[in-house]
Amino acid sequence: MKTSLSRLLGCTLCMALGLSGILPSAVAQTKSPQAFLGYELGTRFTPHHRVVAYFEHVAATSADVQLVHYGKTHEWRPLVAAFVSSPANKAILETIRLDNLRRAGLEPGRATTRVPIIWLSFNVHGNEAVSSETAMKMLWELRNPENKEAQKWLENTVVVIDPCLNPDGQERYVNWYNQKVNGRLQPDPQSVEHNEPWPGGRPNHYLFDLNRDWAWQVQQESQARIRLYNRWMPQVHVDFHEQGIDAPYYFAPAAEPVHAFVTDFQKTFQETVGRNNARYFDRNAWLYFTREIFDLFYPSYGDSWPMFNGAIGMTYEQGGSGRAGLGVLTALGDTLTLAERISHHYTSGMATIETVSTHADRLLDEYAAYFTEGQSNPQGQYKAYVVKPGNSPERLAALERLLDRNGIRYGYATGRAGLRGLDYLSGKPASFEVEAGDLVVSAYQPKSVLAQTLFEPNPQLSDSLTYDITSWALPYAYGLQAYALEKRLEVNTSDKDTVFESKRFTDTPLAYVSPWTSVAHARLAAALLQEGIRIRYAERPFTLAGKTYPAGSLIIGRAGNEHVADFGRRVVALANDHRVRLDPVATGYVDTGKDFGSGEVKAMRAPKVALVGGDGVSSLGVGEVWHFFEQELDYPLSILAPDQLASADLSNYNTIILPSGNYSAWGDAVLRKLTTWISTGGKLIAIESAVGFLSGKEGFGVSPFLDDDERKEAEKQREQAAAAERIADFRTRERAGLSYTVSGAVFEVKMDASFPLGFGTEGKYYTLKNSGRRYAYLKRGVNAGIIPDDTYQRSGFAGAKAKAGVAESLVFGVEYNGRGQVIYLVDNPLFRGFWEYGKLIMSNALFMVGD
Ligand SMILES: [Zn+2]
Repeated sequence: MKTSLSRLLGCTLCMALGLSGILPSAVAQTKSPQAFLGYELGTRFTPHHRVVAYFEHVAATSADVQLVHYGKTHEWRPLVAAFVSSPANKAILETIRLDNLRRAGLEPGRATTRVPIIWLSFNVHGNEAVSSETAMKMLWELRNPENKEAQKWLENTVVVIDPCLNPDGQERYVNWYNQKVNGRLQPDPQSVEHNEPWPGGRPNHYLFDLNRDWAWQVQQESQARIRLYNRWMPQVHVDFHEQGIDAPYYFAPAAEPVHAFVTDFQKTFQETVGRNNARYFDRNAWLYFTREIFDLFYPSYGDSWPMFNGAIGMTYEQGGSGRAGLGVLTALGDTLTLAERISHHYTSGMATIETVSTHADRLLDEYAAYFTEGQSNPQGQYKAYVVKPGNSPERLAALERLLDRNGIRYGYATGRAGLRGLDYLSGKPASFEVEAGDLVVSAYQPKSVLAQTLFEPNPQLSDSLTYDITSWALPYAYGLQAYALEKRLEVNTSDKDTVFESKRFTDTPLAYVSPWTSVAHARLAAALLQEGIRIRYAERPFTLAGKTYPAGSLIIGRAGNEHVADFGRRVVALANDHRVRLDPVATGYVDTGKDFGSGEVKAMRAPKVALVGGDGVSSLGVGEVWHFFEQELDYPLSILAPDQLASADLSNYNTIILPSGNYSAWGDAVLRKLTTWISTGGKLIAIESAVGFLSGKEGFGVSPFLDDDERKEAEKQREQAAAAERIADFRTRERAGLSYTVSGAVFEVKMDASFPLGFGTEGKYYTLKNSGRRYAYLKRGVNAGIIPDDTYQRSGFAGAKAKAGVAESLVFGVEYNGRGQVIYLVDNPLFRGFWEYGKLIMSNALFMVGD
């Protein structure tokens, strides 16, 4: 991939694209990046605040650039996007925006203008830092009057440039790199500047991968960006990335599997874009590849999510990322420089704008047709979805928030009727009654395809070698009874909040009672505990005043809270804040079950939590727990680096959480310290591969096999399979490996709802399985969540052998040691922060399991 800079700058394309480096004096008023920053792009990495300063400078000095500050990050960095077009278009930018929404059916009226919008997103992964540098170059060239070609393209396009989707990650990388970089170019890949420390700059503040968060919008950067995106709904979206240093450039068309809801036109246009990009790359003799690796299936990427919103969504990948620095030796012995990386992204970006400009009319017509089709004749098998609040209107409310963020319209049934549809929870067709208050999503709407994609009970894979999870259907993620209907069902969309009515404080009753069914209840518990208000919970179901309360129901009583001034008013105010319904009750004498004074009504212990996070631990896993505590529960936690465990005073904590990770650096002494801490009342929560680490260690009973016979049998089978595969050809072996994998498939889990880890589940949970690794039922302890046999798969891809292995396996279990417990969470209930139902399991592990 070696290309000399002089050859690069001397090429005719570069002249045409304005890459010449000789800056015309006619635009002196607006400075080039070099004049503004004081160095040539490609010679340093630019801190985020300087990138923003440059965008602000250009907007302040150019009539044809509008800068929007659309949000801020957790570390208080601004999120900005520049809207660039011709002066004529700039003058009618609001009309262009509204016309675009009219084309999509999201605004009333007919469009009169004909200007497509192309949106360029840079640096969603913070350490892929070539992107923000490229964004500055593109902004400069697009508004450079000497760049005649670019000016022509802008006559019929609006270009949106978001220079950095992940400022906290970009700054983490750049700040670190600028401290470590050698004074002269050091391409030796072993040198420290090419080896980022944990957690690296890729994720955001909470260590989330923002390029997995487009649909779920767990992170505030995503929420802010998609609010802006939904106001514009572009025709084309490009997400700029970097990959390993040895890989040639990647651009569209995408690889298989491509989701069945991607239209022929969207695929064709990717081809059109790819061919024009290739023209420029060929002219420069730059290597590239297409139709490999980067697929279009999982709906929460920066290419797939725009696709399901009617745009041509694409990922572009340059070799580089956090490893490359200013220059690095590749496997071929070439030096890949930052300047080259900028040239490649710049060239593909500009070529794509050209393609959009050339095919503007076709793009607009097809875009309009896409939305007309969605509203009048949705393509998928299912035309409506009915979701029941069941025992958890709080979980339904969380689903409504997700639909709102995605701009998906919904309404509520007002009457009762008998219908037929696919029952998500059983995976089979069934008759059911739609009732007043049920949430209804019709596929006949502008966001038809997105709605169908997110509700798709079983997405069809055109190829099982995918990059990501293969199932995400919302009723599983939210743990809600739902039906997919093949017939149209319309209800009036309404803004009325039927789920929650805030209580007015009247008089202080004996106690307030609430069923425990969602993370909203845990949020309330966290708030009460932090205010010093004592909470009790019923270990068994009870009925009182004609109402049934399941096991785990909260009882917040005057007894034990005499010290709390204004008790009733404070409890009601907190419940309203957290949108949790409370029932005031006047007596502790229950109709059935145990009275409030019973030994089976337990006091909740306030968790004092340490999360182990640092080198060797999955940064995503750490981030999910960290985010959960701070942004979901609003509850304190300490974060200890793994190498602190040996010396840390563990008596400060009653709960320690081990996310997925490799803890093998811990010697026997640390493990002994942990088991001693557990036996004196500590609670250890191990998630995913942390369970594997504990397996076989002294004091931990979790194991892949029930006994020695089972182990021997499994080893024998593995031997036989390996022997057969050894003589298969290479391609076949790659495929054969698939039979052992599980790619984010959904399985029903049989929960013990009478046990604290299963409280609020009514006996069923839906787990997202990301690995074929299985564990046998615990011999000592409680198997609180299990998969009894291979009929429990509900959705997504699981290879035949992996599926068989999942039968009779543990998903969630608790083992007792002295006065403490170990909680095994074989599947991660906090996966990417979007598996809403999983948050209940984590809340149970924190607040309910114990004593
Ligand atoms: Zn990336």
